[in-house]
Amino acid sequence: MKKSIIRVDGANGLVGSEIPFYEYGDSAHGPTVSLMAGVHGCEYTSMLGLRTFLDTLDESALLGSLRVVPMANIASFEARSAFVVPHDGLNLNRCFPGDANGSFTERLAAAIFDEAIRPAQFHVDMHAGDQVEDLEPFTIYDASTVEDQSRSLALAYGLGYMIRTERSASPIAGTSSAAAAESGIASITAEAGGRGLVDEASVRLHEEGVRRVLAMLGVLPASFAPAPAPVEISHWLWLRSTRGGWWSSNVRVGDAVKAGSVLGTVRSLDGDEEEEVVAPEDGYPLFLTTSPAVAADGLLLGLAAR
Ligand SMILES: [Zn+2]
Repeated sequence: MKKSIIRVDGANGLVGSEIPFYEYGDSAHGPTVSLMAGVHGCEYTSMLGLRTFLDTLDESALLGSLRVVPMANIASFEARSAFVVPHDGLNLNRCFPGDANGSFTERLAAAIFDEAIRPAQFHVDMHAGDQVEDLEPFTIYDASTVEDQSRSLALAYGLGYMIRTERSASPIAGTSSAAAAESGIASITAEAGGRGLVDEASVRLHEEGVRRVLAMLGVLPASFAPAPAPVEISHWLWLRSTRGGWWSSNVRVGDAVKAGSVLGTVRSLDGDEEEEVVAPEDGYPLFLTTSPAVAADGLLLGLAAR
């Protein structure tokens, strides 16, 4: 194993980041796989799942090579900053493949993408719900020229729901997995855990997901049964509040909800007005804001529709 540091200079009076980067194995013997966690600094299950995998990895068994960034966003981790990086208020997972001449987060994205992801044939980006999000485990892969391989990664990772996203229909851009797919690197985003917790079950889902992906690719020997087939989702509906106020949800993540049902309410802080949040289609809330505090146009939940 070779350990090095990806360095990014600071900005706006804040210090820079030194991101540990590990290389394992030998690309002469098999594919090169990029593994990354901690793009959002409070999604702890992803980071610990990857670290647990590394702690138990027998490098001599690898047929291929790994390029690993176990904590991509140390600035947000240290500040306990949900979603965004303190230096410039940007969301790192909207900035890939990055800009070497941009602001701090854009430079961070570029440094990680160029060093860890671009040389790989496969890329796995591990996430969870952030500090104020509950989440039902799922994987995302993007429509691309390598989507069949991406889909195989998603199936191998083994989480309960799987979503294919078309760029034109995606609520967001600049994720590491979408940027990788556009560069011809088969990739997924894998989500398990949330609410700033370090629950063992979600940590294990991530650790096993990585092992299953590497076994499917022939990089590590298989030592378990394949994962059960996921529920396949055709598209996302990200529901937002109209105004700011006090959000309360009527549903839990993973519930099956019907079109027209009331998923929750946002009440104005003077108590006078209440907005009902209604499901536009049948689906499953796969992530859900757990904090009552929401801003105008604030994200409330992600409804996955079949
Ligand atoms: Zn995330």
